[in-house]
Amino acid sequence: MMPGEPRFRRLPKTLAMKPVTTHALAAFFLLIASAPQSVLARQGLRPHVSYLIRVGPADQSGFTVEMRVRGAGDTVRLAMASHPEYDDRYWRYVENLSAEARGVALSVTREEDALWSVRAPGGDLYVKYRIRLLPQTAPTRAAWQPFISPTGGLVGDLHSLMYVVGATRAPARVTLDIPAGWAIASGLDTTNDPKTFSARSVELLLDSPIVVGQFRRWDFAVNGVPHTVVYLPQPNSAPFDADAFIAGVRRLAGEAINIFGKTPYRRYTFIYMDGADGALEHLNSVTIGAQSRNLARGLGDVFQVTSHEYFHTWNLMRVRPVERVGVRYRHAEPTAVLWWSEGVTIYFSDLLLRRAKLPVAEPTRAAHLESKIATYLLTPGYSRISPERVSLASDDPLALGDDFASVYLQGELLGSMLDLLIREATRGRRSLDDAMRTLSERFTPERGINGRDIERAVHDVCGCDAHSFFEAHVRGARPIDFDRYLRAVGLRAQVSWSPALGGDGGPAPDLRIYAINSPGDSAPRLRLTNPDSAWGRAGLHTGDRLISLDGRAVASASDFRPWLGQLRVGQTARLEVMRDGVVSTATVLITGYDRPTVRLREIEDATAEQLRLRARWAEGGP
Ligand SMILES: [Zn+2]
Repeated sequence: MMPGEPRFRRLPKTLAMKPVTTHALAAFFLLIASAPQSVLARQGLRPHVSYLIRVGPADQSGFTVEMRVRGAGDTVRLAMASHPEYDDRYWRYVENLSAEARGVALSVTREEDALWSVRAPGGDLYVKYRIRLLPQTAPTRAAWQPFISPTGGLVGDLHSLMYVVGATRAPARVTLDIPAGWAIASGLDTTNDPKTFSARSVELLLDSPIVVGQFRRWDFAVNGVPHTVVYLPQPNSAPFDADAFIAGVRRLAGEAINIFGKTPYRRYTFIYMDGADGALEHLNSVTIGAQSRNLARGLGDVFQVTSHEYFHTWNLMRVRPVERVGVRYRHAEPTAVLWWSEGVTIYFSDLLLRRAKLPVAEPTRAAHLESKIATYLLTPGYSRISPERVSLASDDPLALGDDFASVYLQGELLGSMLDLLIREATRGRRSLDDAMRTLSERFTPERGINGRDIERAVHDVCGCDAHSFFEAHVRGARPIDFDRYLRAVGLRAQVSWSPALGGDGGPAPDLRIYAINSPGDSAPRLRLTNPDSAWGRAGLHTGDRLISLDGRAVASASDFRPWLGQLRVGQTARLEVMRDGVVSTATVLITGYDRPTVRLREIEDATAEQLRLRARWAEGGP
């Protein structure tokens, strides 16, 4: 959540004021309702929930959900879960929430934005509500958000399903009532009823999007484990090479499973959707926006996204930050290990693509690393702010001040260096693959990791001094000495600085700044990425509220980019900003800037051992 974001208007506390019936066992239920979940589980009394999702044939504005809660206590707390990454707050779209038991309507009280409570007389509790879907205004949808179109849609997971607080480890079922001729796919287990699916826990159900409609479907097995690929097209979908697409997805799955030796799931479903972009990982599935016209042009992009999101099945979903264990209805606490969960996932997704012989941006691992090191050196924030701090600040674009760093690049480079460290210490017998596999064997979704756990796994795999590395480069912000680690494979980084060039071959203007909209704040704010840029030298700071650009008032951050894009070296830009309530004008002389070029060179007198390790490393081998 952004600082200064307004709390959303709360609905009236009581949605329905109807008499609450009492029950002879009320005292007993009162007793067990306050017992910890484990006690209820031992007594076999924890609530079991089954869901029914009804999608009408002609209604694209929403769908209804019915819940049957068996074994409920006398007070049932219902909540909409908050996603730790994309908290879309679908509690805002819950309508017509009602509850009844024994044929009597019950009062539902709103306790918090995403939390309701019902006083129930015991026995089965029936809950019903509608999820309102917003009309699509942008050209594409976000791949993880529910929608319904005339030919299919996406429902289920935490965007649709409420849960009973304290009962998320109990098994659950969901049944779909959908238009005739539509099919269903998800990562959930099938049952005897083709429209009913089961999950070993409510938590897993809340993590399982369900695609419905007229989609294409392919099935294959890897090591005997079933995998399904689904593509939900739009009308007028462009044709693409489905055979090459499925073959590539299958190879990626095979390469990832090779690292771990087994899957953390019983079945897995890749859900691709036309007309959508973005992607979101889950334990048993993934939703990926894949516009057919892009697939028709080439499959490189979709493989890249798939490799990343699919690797998250292990690194982020199975091996997850301790702050992301369990289900919650309030926003998750930030975590210090995103550099590992996201950045090291980038490291592995590049490796999977190379091992699967699928397209990659740079032809060799050396060229890939050269480009990453150059990006690291260009922006001083990467070596000024520790990856743990960058991880903790990832929700707040203003938190790092005038410096910028992303966990993606920091983590990918740290992963690359840790890999070299392990190879050197074990004479090539082990690599970062082994550290990742060790974590996946030690941890489960119920037992999350912290930075010390990652350090321990690296240490146990390499038998080397992982502690100094983590002190210097993970918890601390010491610049990475690339040559120290590249030495393992007989390489060093040669860095040269030269003026950055634009498309016309002349010096590129220093445009290292952007603007962001803060919800609840009418004025967009500036975000510097380098305090030594032309913008920092002119006295501007991250967080400055933008009033006008060259005398023209600014309404939104989207006004900033076209204005920035027309600036040329030698021009003068005038920005009126407000800081601490004081308005001032900054005059910025647009200059060029230098950028580094990195080439990995062979060290003098590289040993046979270093050359042997390099050959293995360069081919992407473990
Ligand atoms: Zn990711």
